[in-house]
Amino acid sequence: MRIDRDDPRHTAPPGITYEIAEPAMWGRDDGKRREPVLDHSLSPPRVVRHVGWRKCLKCRTDFFSADVRGLRMCDYCRKNGSDSDW
Ligand SMILES: [Zn+2]
Repeated sequence: MRIDRDDPRHTAPPGITYEIAEPAMWGRDDGKRREPVLDHSLSPPRVVRHVGWRKCLKCRTDFFSADVRGLRMCDYCRKNGSDSDW
């Protein structure tokens, strides 16, 4: 299984602030665990998205998704999947 050390998925998306509490990545677990990302600028803190492991829809590689509902492909497939062949 491929592990991409240069994977930029932990760079914060635009507009993110220091008040967003991003859970640290944990060991691969087949997508069992989901951790909320909390925005502490609101009271009570609001869950903005969930992070966790999931399988890429396209290549079936496990990857750590910064948004398990929105991000369903690994970085490689997102970069290379624009002229879609699936
Ligand atoms: Zn993929």
